[in-house]
Amino acid sequence: MLQIFLPLNALGFVYRQLKKALADTAHMFALLEIEPAVVDEPATQALATQRPTIVFDNVAFDYKADRAILRDVNLTIRAGEKVAVVGHSGAGKSTLARLLFRFYDVNEGAIRIDDIDIRDMSLASLRAGIGVVPQDTVLFNDSIAYNIAYGAPTTATRADIENVARLAHLDDFIARLPEGYDTVVGERGLKLSGGEKQRIAIARAMLKNPAVLIFDEATSSLDTQAEQAINQALSELAADHTTLVIAHRLSTVVDADRIAVMDAGRLIETGTHAELLARDGLYARMWRLQGAADASSMS
Ligand code: ATP
Repeated sequence: MLQIFLPLNALGFVYRQLKKALADTAHMFALLEIEPAVVDEPATQALATQRPTIVFDNVAFDYKADRAILRDVNLTIRAGEKVAVVGHSGAGKSTLARLLFRFYDVNEGAIRIDDIDIRDMSLASLRAGIGVVPQDTVLFNDSIAYNIAYGAPTTATRADIENVARLAHLDDFIARLPEGYDTVVGERGLKLSGGEKQRIAIARAMLKNPAVLIFDEATSSLDTQAEQAINQALSELAADHTTLVIAHRLSTVVDADRIAVMDAGRLIETGTHAELLARDGLYARMWRLQGAADASSMS
């Protein structure tokens, strides 16, 4: 009997692992809503530095030939800086992140990390060096600890997991769960809120410790407390990394080192929050509009 069950058991294990791997790959492409479209040329260069400088140099890009998406984008994110990109829906913010992750190649210009064109890096080294905190994180039907450790390049110890959970402001929340770090989450387990899931993604990124961080802020609105917890967690993470934030709420970009304002595929203003308000351009208008919207939603 045992002889029958042992292989069945092993098959079950293989099936579960395979399903997880497939779910992860499918999820990654669903996240970015695209198919991979780049060719990995034989490359000798690797993304090696911890806090690199990223340069978008005269970048132009179209998904399809008949419609211009990005034009003349020049943006430098200096070593260790946190730059937030803002702009109306469809302005091209997420496209910048997709190009940096090389889901697509630029049509004109170049993206360079520490002076190396990302097309001259191996895809594996580029993507291993970039941590993405997506808008919506998919959790596996497994413990919180497993979900935090997922994707870490080396086996993370419980102490490592608890450390990043604390930095991601998850420890109080986990302490209140019936089985703490062993509580099962995901479809068949405890359902987490959008804000809690995003903090799990931040903790994951902390364990991965990538050179570059892309933070894709959730479009759905969070309550003030959840937003504050995420902002604090992000600040901890961004402090050691070169960070690109795709922002949907202006309240979260106020402390960015620089804010880049996109309009219809062009970068029209850059500066700190105070500089952009003084400039009285699109950012200042968006700020006034969002302030009015926030005030009316609270009344
Ligand atoms: P949002 O704030 O709504 O997320 P965004 O500023 O991030 O918007 P992008 O997602 O970068 O905007 O999209 C820029 C433009 O590119 C949009 O007009 C969008 O319709 C178009 N676009 C995005 N993805 C694709 C795609 N895979 N194929 C064709 N067009 C696309």
